[in-house]
Amino acid sequence: MSLAALFLALSLPAAAETPVVALDPGHGGFDMGQSLNGVREREFALAFARLLEPRLKARGTMPFLTRFSDEFVALSSRVVSAEQVHSKVFLSIHLDNNAERGGKGVMLWVYGKNNSIPQGPPRQHGERMLPAPPKDQVAVSRRLAERIQIVLRKRGLRVAGYVDRGPFAVLKGPGMASVLIEVANLHDKAEARQVKDPAFQAKLADAVADAVGLHLASEARRGP
Ligand SMILES: [Zn+2]
Repeated sequence: MSLAALFLALSLPAAAETPVVALDPGHGGFDMGQSLNGVREREFALAFARLLEPRLKARGTMPFLTRFSDEFVALSSRVVSAEQVHSKVFLSIHLDNNAERGGKGVMLWVYGKNNSIPQGPPRQHGERMLPAPPKDQVAVSRRLAERIQIVLRKRGLRVAGYVDRGPFAVLKGPGMASVLIEVANLHDKAEARQVKDPAFQAKLADAVADAVGLHLASEARRGP
């Protein structure tokens, strides 16, 4: 268990009803992520997680970050530490760099087979192979992804019209609604410019935090 996970676990009994939301800033350390048009993915991901933190707290949840600095954390370790603190939601934050297509707005991913990326990204140092998540859990993840889409669209934020699927390690948590959010395609100059804009970042963070809050409330109504 990481030190951060241990601290959070120790603080949990007093707030057992407070749902934990894991924020997973992609990449870090020698895993550089994408870097294009003046944006570094690993730095953006952490900065955006920091924007989400107070917003999620304000909505009655307890955020848990899978990394706090520009450090390398294995993908499976991120999932395992978030599960250890009983996270209800796992939100992995990334940017894309795709020359094949222009910007589609925000892209959301849940676990699933994808013929164009059958193996997912190459495994990194210290990586454990996690089993696929249960189908029921993938359905919960999809509900969260669709909720985020709806809220973003309502707020006038551009978002792809479908939820994509990928066999990514960070989407394999067996007990968490796990969604990967790609905020922008850095290859698209307009999206790269937008992602640097603090007003856009704040608006997106508000929308995502609201969507997570709505998701948790609606799942609580569904019952276990
Ligand atoms: Zn990434």
